[in-house]
Amino acid sequence: MTKKKSYILEHCRKNCSKTSTDWSALYEELEEILQNMDLDQLINKLFPVLHHHHRPKITLAGCPNGCSQPQIKDIGISGYVNPQFTDEECIGCKICIDACREQALFWQNKVILEPGLCIGCGDCFRNCPTGTIVAGERGWNLLLGGRLGRRPQLACLVETGLDSQGVLEKVQEILEAYQKDALPGERLSQFLDRQNYLLEKDARLAKEKETSLS
Ligand code: SF4
Ligand code: SF4
Ligand code: SF4
Repeated sequence: MTKKKSYILEHCRKNCSKTSTDWSALYEELEEILQNMDLDQLINKLFPVLHHHHRPKITLAGCPNGCSQPQIKDIGISGYVNPQFTDEECIGCKICIDACREQALFWQNKVILEPGLCIGCGDCFRNCPTGTIVAGERGWNLLLGGRLGRRPQLACLVETGLDSQGVLEKVQEILEAYQKDALPGERLSQFLDRQNYLLEKDARLAKEKETSLS
């Protein structure tokens, strides 16, 4: 019988046309970090009778659609791509506005982006026929503390604008802290709660991003 890993690392669908940020290399690097950390010893010590829900769950999603459910994992990593306006002439077709399901774009003599509403899905520029809106900055959002079970909670968005190296460092830092300070029977999401990792909620909304079509 194959021995179960002491963690669960997942990802969303490969080669999806909606991918904002490609997760494949990051997935491999995360797997390597997790294997090198040897979490078996810790998990067996924390949970003498180990159940599925005890194991730390980490998932990667290539875009804000979150098909791999980053909102209910201990650590959710979700890609985004910000729209960027170019000098290409806008023909005023408003296709981008119709394509945006977040109502983050509106018309006021030109297309205006409301940055606080944009989730970085890329639907607008994928549909713009003129290249007036294109793909801009790509990166990762970090969500922490999600779980199901008796006391379910959605993960909090604690950081945005991370590159892959930033994600790797953050995940390693969190797991090392868990290895060092977890209490008996404490799941990773509970540990993150207790250690105040979730205090920086909604970092993305606080981030200033303002772009308008000139
Ligand atoms: S999360 Fe986005 S990129 Fe991943 S499978 Fe779903 S739609 Fe595709
Ligand atoms: S990326 Fe474009 S379509 Fe997606 S939420 Fe932002 S403005 Fe709307
Ligand atoms: S930005 Fe592109 S999709 Fe939007 S109105 Fe202008 S031409 Fe049309």
